[in-house]
Amino acid sequence: MYLKSGTGVATKTGANNRVFIFEVEGLRQGENTDKLNFLIRRSGIVNITVPYDRMNQEMRRIARLGGKIVNIRPAGEPQDATTVAPGNGQQSQPSEEKTKHDHAKAKTEIPVNIYRPNNPYIGKCIENYELVGEGGVGTVRHVTFDISGGELRYLEGQSIGIIPPGNDNKGKPHKLRLYSIASTRHGDKLDDQTVSLCVRQLEYKHPETGETVYGVCSTHLCNLEVGADVAITGPVGKEMLLPDDEEATVVMMATGTGIAPFRSFLWRMFKEQHQDYKFRGLAWLFFGIPYTANILYKEDLEQLQREFPDNFRLTYAISREQNNPDGGKMYIQDRIKENADQLWQLVQKDNTHTYICGLKGMEGGIDEGMSAAAGKFDVNWSDYQKQLKKGHRWHVETY
Ligand SMILES: Cc1cc2nc3c(=O)[nH]c(=O)nc-3n(C[C@H](O)[C@H](O)[C@H](O)COP(=O)(O)OP(=O)(O)OC[C@H]3O[C@@H](n4cnc5c(N)ncnc54)[C@H](O)[C@@H]3O)c2cc1C
Repeated sequence: MYLKSGTGVATKTGANNRVFIFEVEGLRQGENTDKLNFLIRRSGIVNITVPYDRMNQEMRRIARLGGKIVNIRPAGEPQDATTVAPGNGQQSQPSEEKTKHDHAKAKTEIPVNIYRPNNPYIGKCIENYELVGEGGVGTVRHVTFDISGGELRYLEGQSIGIIPPGNDNKGKPHKLRLYSIASTRHGDKLDDQTVSLCVRQLEYKHPETGETVYGVCSTHLCNLEVGADVAITGPVGKEMLLPDDEEATVVMMATGTGIAPFRSFLWRMFKEQHQDYKFRGLAWLFFGIPYTANILYKEDLEQLQREFPDNFRLTYAISREQNNPDGGKMYIQDRIKENADQLWQLVQKDNTHTYICGLKGMEGGIDEGMSAAAGKFDVNWSDYQKQLKKGHRWHVETY
């Protein structure tokens, strides 16, 4: 049984006020189950709401009735929005009745602004390591925070806000900066108690003085010591959510730290195996970086490609090492052009979602490539793209 967070959460202080959802399979309407005060469906999983102090009793009762608990999760998590669980013993919709595409998700299913800037969650840094290898440019860190003490939860594709400590040059507290979440909803430790980011330290030469300037928040995060506090807001964002459809085609186009949401997607699809999501579709990642040493999460990505060759394609555009067919630098748009016919076939399928994340401006080149492909079939790409956006199948988050 995959216990999503049940006992881990339940042992915490105050847990005995909490309510959990048991996902149970194998119960059938019958003489014994008729005595229960909730309706049993003829097939499928039933969700049973159980207060913490009745968990053991309920587990024994379910076992006696021949049911098998396949998952336990705290009530109030995103999935619960579709359930009707006003009190002990109520039953919700079977999981197969859930909607299939992200745009069909009820608004209430998506957690947003659980923590606001005037009352942020104070998490602790538990991991902070460099992602850029020898010979690469810049500093990019994978940073993980413990969020076990609060109510923060999130979905793949969302972002959190970070408020750097101290004041700005006007003497006012720093404003929050957004960062795409790089971990799945279960966190890198798979215990629903952490959130991870992929942060590039902003560094540039001041246009007038020529001095090196470091970004406030990205430097704060990149230098964060294990054990240090961090002020977190959010989560926010509904643009980059992963479709629920396990057979979808998911095309991802990333530059640099734009890989963050796609790490969360790919970890959910392949690396972490979850009871509630078995991806069987096609995931295709286009990843643009300057040098091989800048390929973030390289080993993991390549291992996934080796393990899931039928479901995961990985295409790099390494601008300072590879050349495009014209002899210029190989950018992500060149890879799009190279694969444009195939991409054009894919985007026409109803269950294909395309995601773009990373440097502002990268959309231009991608549109150029798609335009050329669609043009071959006398289709105007810009009109077609509008339809994709309207259908929530073209997702862009650039910064
Ligand atoms: C939805 C979203 C998701 C994001 N996800 C990520 C992520 O996953 N990882 C990540 O690293 N970042 C991400 N960002 C960017 C992040 O929010 C910050 O903007 C970034 O870290 C810089 O913040 P800072 O405080 O370090 O820089 P600041 O101290 O705020 O400095 C930024 C300012 O410096 C100036 N500046 C920047 N570059 C130059 C230049 N070349 N020349 C002159 N002036 C310049 C500009 O005025 C700019 O506004 C995301 C942004 C958004 C909106």
